[in-house]
Amino acid sequence: MKPPPFDYVAPATLDEALNALAEAGEDAKVMAGGQSLIPLLSLRLARPTVVIDLNGVAELSGIEAFDGALRIGATTRHRVAERSADVASAVPLVAEAMPLIGHVAIRSRGTVGGSIAHADPAAELPAVALALDAQMTLRSRDRGERTVAAADFFEGFFTTAAEADEILTSVSFPVIGAGTGHALEEVARRHGDYAMVGVAASVTVSGGAITDARLALMSVDEKPVRAGSAEAMLRGSAPSAELFAEAAEMATRDLEPSADLHATAAYRRKVGSVCVRRALERAAKMAEVTS
Ligand code: FAD
Repeated sequence: MKPPPFDYVAPATLDEALNALAEAGEDAKVMAGGQSLIPLLSLRLARPTVVIDLNGVAELSGIEAFDGALRIGATTRHRVAERSADVASAVPLVAEAMPLIGHVAIRSRGTVGGSIAHADPAAELPAVALALDAQMTLRSRDRGERTVAAADFFEGFFTTAAEADEILTSVSFPVIGAGTGHALEEVARRHGDYAMVGVAASVTVSGGAITDARLALMSVDEKPVRAGSAEAMLRGSAPSAELFAEAAEMATRDLEPSADLHATAAYRRKVGSVCVRRALERAAKMAEVTS
């Protein structure tokens, strides 16, 4: 299928892009890697009258350490983040997520900011951002810059806190400390497919007890969700197989995932529980080694 007609704008700077977006209003869409937007256009599920291509805006791309965080520019390609030594050492959960996103061809064009802005509830990076309390930086021409915590950014099915005139400029992930381990566990029909269910986990162990635990599940609701009661139960306890099995049960029993062609709700709850248990076991083991 062919997309409906649209005007194409290729700004060279962020200010030009923001200006084009402010002028075009709700009828415009920005394009990063195009790996989700182009299919949406071709299927006519999106009908913007203006497409603003961010690929020429160099200032939106790059990875830098900043104030205890690793800041990843919005148009940084997945493949660049996947191969980055800085990402691997500072935010290894992001590095672990990368190879699970589609295939190399998709990751060579798709961007970190595109995945976050697109907010697919089955996508890996939104769950990772939620688990790690990442901060999203947004900018508009008329109101300048603001930062939104991941917990407030993902609002629903493909819906975020970004306003129509805002561009996501970067995503900042807190740098991992000693004694923290991580794991991403998911089940997909084939490698590279979206997760039918999955979880991003981070566990901190100190003095033989869990001092922090974060669990963000994907593909179980309209947006990625934290398992707050399981996290609270884990804090202060000594890591053990029984504890992780109990936490996995607690993290998933009240979920009401939707059923679709790929999985029933009961399957998602059951397999989600297995993913949580495995992720906790792996993350805790890693945490104990580095503490
Ligand atoms: P685009 O397609 O350019 O944009 C997507 C949306 O985000 C659009 O609405 C656009 O306006 C908006 N947007 C993009 N950048 C910004 C910005 N900086 N500020 C504001 N809004 C912005 N993803 C996964 O997570 N896991 C998978 O397993 C997976 N498998 C895939 C398999 C296939 C076959 C394909 C085609 C895609 C798959 N994807 C998967 C999606 C892929 O990761 C996309 O690259 C990603 O979802 C969107 O990134 P993008 O840079 O291509 O964004």
